[in-house]
Amino acid sequence: MTHRIHNFGAGPGALPLAVLEQAQRELVDFQGSGLSILEASHRGPMYEAVHARTIEVLRELLDPGRGLPDHDVLFMSGGARTQFAAIPMNLLPAGGSADYLVTGVWSEMAVKEAQKLGTAREAYSSAANSHDHVPAAGAYTVDPNAAYFHYTSNNTIFGTQFDHVPDTGDVPLVGDLSSDILSRPLDAQRFGLIYAGAQKNIGAAGVTLVVVRRDLLARCPKHLPDTLNYAKVAKENSLLNTPPVFAIYLVGLVAQHLLDHGGAAAAAVRNEAKATLLYGAIDRSGGFYQGHAQPASRSKMNVTFRLGSEELTKAFLGEAQAAGMEGLKGHRSVGGLRASIYNAVELASVRALVDLMDDFARRHG
Ligand code: PMP
Repeated sequence: MTHRIHNFGAGPGALPLAVLEQAQRELVDFQGSGLSILEASHRGPMYEAVHARTIEVLRELLDPGRGLPDHDVLFMSGGARTQFAAIPMNLLPAGGSADYLVTGVWSEMAVKEAQKLGTAREAYSSAANSHDHVPAAGAYTVDPNAAYFHYTSNNTIFGTQFDHVPDTGDVPLVGDLSSDILSRPLDAQRFGLIYAGAQKNIGAAGVTLVVVRRDLLARCPKHLPDTLNYAKVAKENSLLNTPPVFAIYLVGLVAQHLLDHGGAAAAAVRNEAKATLLYGAIDRSGGFYQGHAQPASRSKMNVTFRLGSEELTKAFLGEAQAAGMEGLKGHRSVGGLRASIYNAVELASVRALVDLMDDFARRHG
């Protein structure tokens, strides 16, 4: 039997075993072609079918029954971090200003990239509270003249997550959904732009999904490098140059797997159950485990918590590793522990972790 650990890594994160096995089966001889998808031309029919189907399934998952008719689905390179720059390059006109909700390390980085290129206002910052929460709807203002309004729907490092989609009126909403895309239903039609590195919920590192409302493409300045220009990439259906074919193929497999298992709505039910189990273990520990996030802002993707001392943290990590659990060390900027429970993390893995947490607290509490 294949040896598999419980993977709580923050990204690249767990992938569905069935997807890995399918990729393994198809690697050398893709569907009887005698070629690997890694060896096929990105302009040939074999890859083109993978590319088209991946976009089609993503459209269905993001907007069930409607398929996001007003948006283009793009595959880009350079990770979500490259999008921190590409977004203002494309959507922030000279003399304009953009709004940012700053709720963690990644949105701090995003606003800084925008400030290199123009004016970007922090419409809200949780920095003074160690980013232990996200603002409730109404706790921030939207500049009605902003070129766009940017937020990070799930803060991977601090373990906080928005439970609402900001209402920005006519200002285009831009969402970094890197760590919670397709983990729950979302009204994707409300977004001007959605982006996400694939390596947490939807596939492997190497490709970044960008979903952009078509009318915004008129803003993309002609002086941009073609590979960073949304209008150019959209016009060529992300085949302007050689795309990361294998990463896109894997996104296609993960997307199909999710669709076959009930889409984002069913994923949300599974994710809710996993998060409830984990937060339950924190809450009944009588302070032995301390959650970083304020309860109303708790993420259902990244559960961050601390133990009373470095020694206890080390001991816990050692026991977790011995029990086949990896990826639990918190990000260096927060410390403590972080359990990432993306779509592909099974309930059984969370049960194993919760059992260890209860047992460890009993022995050391
Ligand atoms: N945004 C968020 C919310 C993230 O979690 C990450 C990566 N952990 C990034 C952006 C940066 O992504 P990438 O490594 O793909 O550039």
